[in-house]
Amino acid sequence: MNYIFLVYFFILGLIVGSFLNVVIYRYNTGKTIGGRSGCMSCGKKLKAFELVPVFSYLFLRGKCSGCGARISSQYPLVELASGLLFLALATKVFDSNPTFSPEQASLYGASILHSTFYILFATIFSILVVIFVYDIKHKIIPDGLVFAFAILALIYQLLNLDYSNINLSFWLNIFSGIIFFIPFAALWLFSQGRWIGLGDGKLVLGIGWMLGFVHGLSAIILSFWLGAIVSIAIMLTFQLKGRGQNITMKTEIPFAPFLIIGFLIVFFYPIDVFNLSLLFNL
Ligand SMILES: [Zn+2]
Repeated sequence: MNYIFLVYFFILGLIVGSFLNVVIYRYNTGKTIGGRSGCMSCGKKLKAFELVPVFSYLFLRGKCSGCGARISSQYPLVELASGLLFLALATKVFDSNPTFSPEQASLYGASILHSTFYILFATIFSILVVIFVYDIKHKIIPDGLVFAFAILALIYQLLNLDYSNINLSFWLNIFSGIIFFIPFAALWLFSQGRWIGLGDGKLVLGIGWMLGFVHGLSAIILSFWLGAIVSIAIMLTFQLKGRGQNITMKTEIPFAPFLIIGFLIVFFYPIDVFNLSLLFNL
């Protein structure tokens, strides 16, 4: 794959990222998505050169040119993350490892299938970027976003299933979202929302359908490991500072970012942590 092609997808991701920042900022606030962006302190409308993803932040050294108020590092970070995700997605979808069968390719034409899958995945990644930041900021996962992810992931799973071979793996994959949702919902119910939020359960619907049963389970296990490591690190830090009294997983540490990181790791590197594919002969 040539570099110009990759740069194109990186820039596309940067631009989408700056739009996602607007969505994160205005979602559920009653404000519309449209309209010119301005400084949150002095209200100064941004000029065209101040709207360039990442570079404007660096050029302005993270401060408003009108009043000198600090601009949140969320803006360049979301833009950069989106740029890198769109780039990585292009290398996965357009290069190796086709996400569709040779029969589908001959039926629809490979380039159309590539583009369709790219748009589907890019939409899903954009939704996940918003959920990631939104959960950190507000400790809540918006229903509209998490259900949109679940529906798109189910569509992908239905497109991807091998209908000529209806075996155990077929049924596990078609129900994987629900299979993962049930234990999360049970944990939420029994702990009355103290151990885990129901939003996390809704999030694993999409993760299950997107990755299928074996890899979906790997992603969720990875996210628990990551979550445990980071939680212990945070608790130790608080203990050392003598403020360790009231920390629980739910109140202090949002879990959606770990689920999303686990998902992304397994999406790009299909790990099977328990070697389940051997067990089920999948
Ligand atoms: Zn300002």
